[in-house]
This record gives sequence, structure tokens and C-alpha cells, in this order.
Amino acid sequence: MLISKISPYDVIIIGAGINGCCSAYTLAQAGLNVALIDQDGIAAGGSGAAGAFISPKISKAGELKGIMGEAHAEALHFYTTNFPQFTLVKPLLHIANSPQEGEKVESFKHETHIKHSNIPHKIQILLSDEAINTPSIYFDIGAVVDAQGVCHAMVEGIDFYPRKVENLIHHDGTWQIGDLNAKHLVLAIGAYPKLLPIDYVGLRGIWGHRIDIETSTHIPCILHHHVSISLTSNAGVVAIGATHDVHYSPFSGEPYDREQGRAQLLEKASKTLKLNNINIINDYTGLRSGSNDYLPMLGSLVDAEAVLQKYPHLRHGERVDPSEYTYYPNLTMINGSGGYGFVLAPYLAKRLKEFIAEGKEINPVLSPSRFFPRWAKRQS
Ligand SMILES: Cc1cc2nc3c(=O)[nH]c(=O)nc-3n(C[C@H](O)[C@H](O)[C@H](O)COP(=O)(O)OP(=O)(O)OC[C@H]3O[C@@H](n4cnc5c(N)ncnc54)[C@H](O)[C@@H]3O)c2cc1C
Repeated sequence: MLISKISPYDVIIIGAGINGCCSAYTLAQAGLNVALIDQDGIAAGGSGAAGAFISPKISKAGELKGIMGEAHAEALHFYTTNFPQFTLVKPLLHIANSPQEGEKVESFKHETHIKHSNIPHKIQILLSDEAINTPSIYFDIGAVVDAQGVCHAMVEGIDFYPRKVENLIHHDGTWQIGDLNAKHLVLAIGAYPKLLPIDYVGLRGIWGHRIDIETSTHIPCILHHHVSISLTSNAGVVAIGATHDVHYSPFSGEPYDREQGRAQLLEKASKTLKLNNINIINDYTGLRSGSNDYLPMLGSLVDAEAVLQKYPHLRHGERVDPSEYTYYPNLTMINGSGGYGFVLAPYLAKRLKEFIAEGKEINPVLSPSRFFPRWAKRQS
């Protein structure tokens, strides 16, 4: 076993995507001593690829809608207050991308408290016939953040260790990760291999491609339709994103077809408006890590082997109160944000801070262990 050479931290965070960086920032702001680890650098995974739009999720009533609504309001306030230099605020036009979404947009319009109005004439004249004749909602305020810029800014002054974590050791009340140790461990590893036997955590990686372009067409607001099209906080740069490719995995060893991705993005963008004199200046690709029930994940992880040993009848569907489960000590997972990682990160990081620093309970609806009983039943 490695002996720690470095003075102990309060928290070690594995993964420096938006969830890891925002957690590091929020915990450090609360006075905790934080170490951040990533095998590829800051915002090198899915987070670096994100268009990073801070947009409301157009969803029907329910748990997800409530959480996403709260997260969206908190995120707008968080980025515009703490990182205004990386945040561009513009109106946002959301156009439905299918008849089913059209119904959702219409009912969202009637229920939402988010300020919206009619599409201004100067925007209407830019839109294609398809876009203008489809249900849409024009929000007075939307935002897009510079994904890599904001992640780097969040972790300024925080100890960063560029390394791949191979295994997790808990000994004498501390987590030992190589030569680092801490009481608390946060797993913010997105769609990467899970590091623990937690197969019950229902996550899937969805590959995405976004491009930055220059164009002579003026884009007056953030547009979401078949893809998103928007100015960015980098002057003159327009972002178009993103594809949703459920078939490609970077872990398969197969090369990714970048030209096909680019063509798909430009073809989808052309359904919203005509972009003139396009020059592609950058490609970004990565995996979003989505949960099976679309809710994000924040909470403790069940030690499946220990629990199945204690309650073997879980395999036959016996109900056990989750408070009776054995959990990995002082270990919290933050994950499963799907295409809304930048919207959800400030909301999740705040609740993580309240849990670790103030002992406040996390909403059990977010628990990554919510998938455990159903998984256990399939183990017979
Ligand atoms: C193309 C695209 C566009 C998107 N657009 C938006 C958008 O407009 N708005 C929005 O809110 N969200 C958007 N998203 C979603 C958002 O990017 C994700 O929800 C977010 O990146 C998830 O962040 P994360 O920190 O959980 O994971 P990641 O960013 O994937 O970070 C996980 C990190 O963990 C590290 N790691 C994993 N295992 C180990 C290990 N063993 N040792 C060391 N390091 C490890 C990885 O290297 C990685 O850097 C988009 C995503 C993509 C791909």
C-alpha cells in the first residue's frame, strides 16, 4: 500500500469535466481543501466539446421538469455572476424539431414562468419556411458559456493532478489515491469506465460533435432547432452543435468519421436559416453521460456485494429500505447530466457542498443507487 507523501485533502475529485470543476470551485469556496485529478487535463472529455448553452429543458410536468427549472435559474445566475467574461447572454429561440416536441413547446409556453415574447421581425426574416412555421418559444434571456474557458477559470488555484486513476483504496477512514489522501472522494468521471463494481448505475455515453465556424451571416440570438446555432463569447465565432450518435464509442477503437459529422451539422443548420460564406475553424467531439431515466445523479453508491450478502432476498424482489444498504463511505458520485451538464453543474455542486460541508441530505430522487433494487432482482 502506498504511504501518502502529500498532506491530506478534505476532498479528492476524480474527473475535471464541468461536474468535477464546478464541484471543486464550490467546495473550495466553502473553505475545503480540494485535489482534482484527470487523466486528460481540464475539460478534455465531453465537457470540452459542449456548446455549453444554458437553456431551459422543454419538458412536461414532473420531477425532471422541477429539477431542470431550478437548475436553469441557478445556472443563469451562477455563470453571469461568477464568470461573466466566459458567458454570452442573448435571447434564445427554441424551435421544435419534431411534431411531438411541438406539442411540448406549446404546453411549456403556457406553463412556464420564464419570460418569453413574440419573435422579433429582424429574426423572423432570417428563418427558413420550416423554422417559421413550426411551434417555437422565444425567451428574452438565454446564455452560452465558453466550456473550456469556464472550466479552467473555476479551478484556478486548486491543486490539479494529471493522472489516470486505476483503483480506489479506502483505509483507516481515508481514501487513498496513489500518494494523495482525503476523507471524501467525489467521482465525476462521466461516461468513462466506472472504477468500482457498480454495474447497477444506469449510464450510457452518447457521442456528440460540434463545430465552430466563421460566417458572413449575422446571428442575432441563440437558435435551437435540429441543431443549435449561436454566437459565442469569442468574437466572430459561431458554434453549431451537436450531433447525437448513439452508435459510435471512442472506446471501440474505430476511427470517428469527422467529415460525415461536419456534413450532418451543416445540413441540419441549413433547415433553420441560410448561413453564407462558411469557414469551419474547429471541431470538438466527446461523450455525454446520460442516465437511463434522464434525471441527473448525485449521491452515495451502494456496495452491491456487501448488500447482496446481507440481504440475499433482494435477488427475488424483497424490498429493503435504502437506509439499510451499505454504501461506500464518504464517496459521492456526480454524473448522468446528459446534454445538460453545464445547466445542471452549479445546481448539483451546490447540493454536493451542502452534503459534504453541512451534512444536509441530498434529494433521494437524485441518488445513483436508485437503480440498485431493480438491478439486484436481475442477479438471481
Ligand atoms: C457535443 C456536445 C455538446 C454538448 N452541449 C451541451 C450544452 O449546450 N449545454 C449543456 O449543458 N451540456 C451540453 N453537453 C453535455 C455536457 O457536456 C455533459 O453533460 C458534461 O460534459 C458532463 O460533464 P462531466 O463532468 O460529468 O463528464 P466529462 O466532461 O466527460 O468529464 C469526465 C472526466 O473524467 C475523467 N476521467 C474518467 N475516468 C478517469 C480516471 N480513471 N482517471 C482520471 N480521470 C478520469 C475524464 O478524462 C473526463 O475528463 C454537450 C455534450 C457534448 C458531447
